[in-house]
Amino acid sequence: MASFISKGHLDFLSDRQKDELKKYFTQALTNVMPHQLAVQLGIEYSKALAILTLLEAEGLCELKLLIYHNCEPDVPAGAIPFGQGFPNLPWVCPLCESSVEDKDELSFDIMAEFKQKIELV
Ligand SMILES: [Zn+2]
Repeated sequence: MASFISKGHLDFLSDRQKDELKKYFTQALTNVMPHQLAVQLGIEYSKALAILTLLEAEGLCELKLLIYHNCEPDVPAGAIPFGQGFPNLPWVCPLCESSVEDKDELSFDIMAEFKQKIELV
């Protein structure tokens, strides 16, 4: 299990929320989406994303930008490292194999991939 020294980094969370976060990250988990974390902790999406960004900066998870095409709006068609920006167009959708030229056909979400459990210290 990896340790994350949260001192000072998570001051925007209440003690109760920090406890929730601790519990959350000691469960077996592999993928977390910011909106799931936000619901779990009762915090805003932007704060949940901030937490995941911090964890990534510490090398504890990898943030991915999930790409959805409107052929299958609920199934991610691809994933690229977050921070790399948006995919270049035209982008070939692996689900329907069409060449997407219009970014309006795509939507995006963020996912954090965890390789290990994390202990918040
Ligand atoms: Zn498609």
